[in-house]
Amino acid sequence: MFDSQMKNGAGIRTGAQYLAGLQDDREIWTGGQRIADVTQAVGIANGAATLGRFMDRQFDPAYQDKVTYLDSDGTRCGMSFKMPKSVEDVKAKGAAFYEWATWSNGMFGRTPDYKNASVMSFAAATGFLAQNTKGQGDYAANMTAFYDYVRTNDKVLTHTLVNPQVSHAQAAAGKFNSDVALHVTKETDAGIYVSGARLLATLGPSADEIEVFPSTVLKADPDNIPFAFAFAIPIATPGLKMICRDTYDHGKSHFDAPLASRFEEMDAVVIFDNVFVPWERLFLYGQPELCNQAFGTTNAVVHMAHQVACGKLAKAEFMTGLLCSILKATGRDKDMAMKGAVSEVMMMTETVRALLYRAEAEAHEDEWGNFVPLRGPLDTSRNLFPKFYPRMVEILQNMGSSSLMATPTEADFENEMAGDLNQYFQVANLEAKDRVALYRLAHDVAISGFGNRQTLYERFFFGPPHLMNAQYFDLYDKDRAIARVDDLLNS
Ligand SMILES: Cc1cc2nc3c(=O)[nH]c(=O)nc-3n(C[C@H](O)[C@H](O)[C@H](O)COP(=O)(O)OP(=O)(O)OC[C@H]3O[C@@H](n4cnc5c(N)ncnc54)[C@H](O)[C@@H]3O)c2cc1C
Repeated sequence: MFDSQMKNGAGIRTGAQYLAGLQDDREIWTGGQRIADVTQAVGIANGAATLGRFMDRQFDPAYQDKVTYLDSDGTRCGMSFKMPKSVEDVKAKGAAFYEWATWSNGMFGRTPDYKNASVMSFAAATGFLAQNTKGQGDYAANMTAFYDYVRTNDKVLTHTLVNPQVSHAQAAAGKFNSDVALHVTKETDAGIYVSGARLLATLGPSADEIEVFPSTVLKADPDNIPFAFAFAIPIATPGLKMICRDTYDHGKSHFDAPLASRFEEMDAVVIFDNVFVPWERLFLYGQPELCNQAFGTTNAVVHMAHQVACGKLAKAEFMTGLLCSILKATGRDKDMAMKGAVSEVMMMTETVRALLYRAEAEAHEDEWGNFVPLRGPLDTSRNLFPKFYPRMVEILQNMGSSSLMATPTEADFENEMAGDLNQYFQVANLEAKDRVALYRLAHDVAISGFGNRQTLYERFFFGPPHLMNAQYFDLYDKDRAIARVDDLLNS
C-alpha cells in the first residue's frame, strides 16, 4: 500500500491539488449523515478552501522563500519538513511557522506545519525507532519512507493521541478499557488490525493522513501491550470513521462571521472498526516503554511546541490589535482603566515573544543531529498560553460588553433599516457599518461558538493541564533553586 503511494519529486502542492485529494471515499459523519464530499460539505468546505489558499501561497514569490526550502534533490518542500542543522535553520523554521500563523491570525491552529514538525522529528530519530524489536516492522525505515512520502507529496496530516476514558481512576493508573480504547485485535504477516476509538482529531475530516500515535500515559505494563503502537494511515482507510462536532461555520458571510466563515477546522472523534494497518505504516509496536518516551526522546514535542509558540505569538498580536482597534474606535484609548486592561494583553504578547526568542536563540544540537530550540521557554509558553488566552477573551468581553451583542447583520444595512442603523450604531471614531464589522469580529472571538471552541482549544489541545503542569514541574531545574534556599539557611 505504502510503496504504491510514493510519488517522488512532487514537492509542494497547490490548493486545488489538496482539495482534489480529499475527494475520496473517506467515512465522515455529521448530523446523522455521511458526508459525500468534504470539499462541498457546508460547515467543512470553507475551512478546507482556506487551507487550500494557504497552500497556494507556497507558490507565491512573496512567501515562497520564507515557507519552503529546496532539499538536496532540488525538490521544493514545506519549510516545516526541513531538518534544522543550525540556529539559523531553527530561526528560519520559526519564521515560516509564524508566517503561516499570521494568515489566520492564529485562528486556524492546525495548519499542516504542526504535524510536519512531528514527522520531521521522528524521521531524524531513527536510532530511537530502531530500538523497537516487537512485531514485523522495520520501524526506522518505515518512518524514513513516510517522511519522504509526506514531505515530497505535501500531505496534510492530523493526529489523535488520547483514548476515551470510561474511568478516570483507571486512566490515572495508566490502564485503558479495551471496550473503548484503541487496541490491537489481530496480528498477521501483513500487518495488524485495530479497533476502538480515539479522542479528537482536529482537521481530521479534511486531512490526507492520520497519525495515530501513543498516548503518553501508557504504563509500562504487559497489559498495555495491545495499546502500544504508533502508525499513520490515509483518512480513507476502510473501517476508519470520523464523527464530527457541530460546525461553527453556518454559511454566513465574511462580514457576519469573519472568523467562522474562513477558519473552521473541524474536530472529530475517530472510530476504528477492525482497521488494517500494514507493517510498513507502523513506527512503534508492542513496547509501551518506548511509546511513553516517543515524543520526548525524539524531541517531537519541542519542535511541535516551536510551531505552537510561533502561532500563539501571531494570535496574541491579533488580540492586542483587536483590543486597540476597539479602544481607538470608541475613543477610550485615553482612559486609564482601559489602557491598563489592554496593557495586560500586551504584556502577555510580549511574554510569548520573549520566550520564543530565547528558545530559538539558545537552540542546540540534539542526539539525532538536529538543532532543537531550548525546551524550557517553549514549555513555559505552552503552559502559560492556556491561561493567557482565556484571560485575553475575558478582557475583550469586559471591554465589549453589550456592543458584542449589538451586531446587526450585513443584510440589515441593505434594507430600509439602514438609515436607523447608520444613525444609532455609530461610535466616536467609526461609522455604524464599520463599527458593527469590528464588533462582529470581536463577537466571533469572544462569544460565538467558533470563539468558544477557540478558547477550549487553547486550554486543552496540547494535553490536559494537570498533566502538562506536573510534567513542567518534573522537568524544571529545581535543584538550583533549592540550593539558593539551602545557601541562605546554611550561611
Ligand atoms: C478543541 C480541541 C481540539 C483537540 N484536538 C486534538 C487533536 O487534534 N488530537 C488529539 O489527540 N487530541 C486533541 N484534543 C484532545 C486533548 O488532547 C484532550 O482534550 C486532552 O488531552 C484532555 O483529555 P480529555 O478531554 O479526555 O479530558 P479529561 O482527561 O477528562 O480531563 C478533564 C479535566 O479533568 C482534569 N483531570 C483529569 N484527570 C485529573 C487528575 N487525575 N487530576 C487532576 N485533574 C484531572 C483535566 O486536567 C481536565 O481539566 C483536542 C481537544 C480540544 C478541546
